[in-house]
Amino acid sequence: MKRIALVAHDNLKKDMAEWAEFNADTIARHHLTCTGTTGRIVEEALLRGHKTLGVSYPLHLVRLNSGPLGGDQQLGALIVEGKVDVLFFFWDPMQPQPHDVDVKALLRLAVLYNIPTASNRSTADFLVSSPLFKKEYKPMLKDYTSYVNRTV
Ligand code: PGA
Repeated sequence: MKRIALVAHDNLKKDMAEWAEFNADTIARHHLTCTGTTGRIVEEALLRGHKTLGVSYPLHLVRLNSGPLGGDQQLGALIVEGKVDVLFFFWDPMQPQPHDVDVKALLRLAVLYNIPTASNRSTADFLVSSPLFKKEYKPMLKDYTSYVNRTV
């Protein structure tokens, strides 16, 4: 089971819901952690997807705080702790967010820790259909020992 993080800004929540419903059979098999409101719409979308497919199995879905209330930072902390395998983050390219600095911080940590990240639906489609999605995958991490031990 992968540990999947999902976030969508308000203008992208419809995209996230459609994408999650379409991929319900795949993503609902994994551990999902979402920012608050995204979690609600993803849960509803997955249940709709299950209904369409005629299947029913328990969801493992955790809702953190809403993004602007610290949810993005909570996800960032999970990345630092090595508890996120894949990030689906549909961020809004057209509207500034009150928590822009948190958005930037989350994206920065995702790059720093080499987390596969989808920022739009087509990349999300590529990620879920990758053979690596079904396998164990450990991202290579740079060695920051010399940075940690630097003399200042
Ligand atoms: P939300 O937060 O899922 O609570 O809407 C997402 C965000 O804006 O970062």
